[in-house]
Amino acid sequence: MHAGAIPGGCMTTTSSMNCSRCQQQLPLGAAFCPACGASCGAPPTSPTASPSRTDSDATGGLIPYKNPKALWGYYCAIFSLLPIAGLPLGIIAIVLGFLGLRDYRREPHRRGAAHAWIALILGSVTTIGWGTALAMMVTAMMGSM
Ligand SMILES: [Zn+2]
Repeated sequence: MHAGAIPGGCMTTTSSMNCSRCQQQLPLGAAFCPACGASCGAPPTSPTASPSRTDSDATGGLIPYKNPKALWGYYCAIFSLLPIAGLPLGIIAIVLGFLGLRDYRREPHRRGAAHAWIALILGSVTTIGWGTALAMMVTAMMGSM
């Protein structure tokens, strides 16, 4: 098979077109072969040639819908950057990140490893950060009393 060949139709080359069925040279831009009547020039609309790739897989790589623990852990980690709500959300992010990573280890097709790791790392950072801030506040309050 040459490059640019249309199944059941005509081959197109850079200079001229030849019918793939009877090899008859075709007039440029011909829709049908004048010799044998095979259709050519039409865009390949067969369902096998449609470029329907597994899009669900691609999006599943970015957003792990099959691993909700990792996904929610990721969101909790993001929101744990906020003050006040940060400390409990940071702890939740660590727990969900840990569970999400465990689910990923068991069933890698669920994906979400990146989200789980972000949840674990960011959750740890915010938990330590807010925990330290809270401890300092408590110490300051104790000292002022
Ligand atoms: Zn032909």
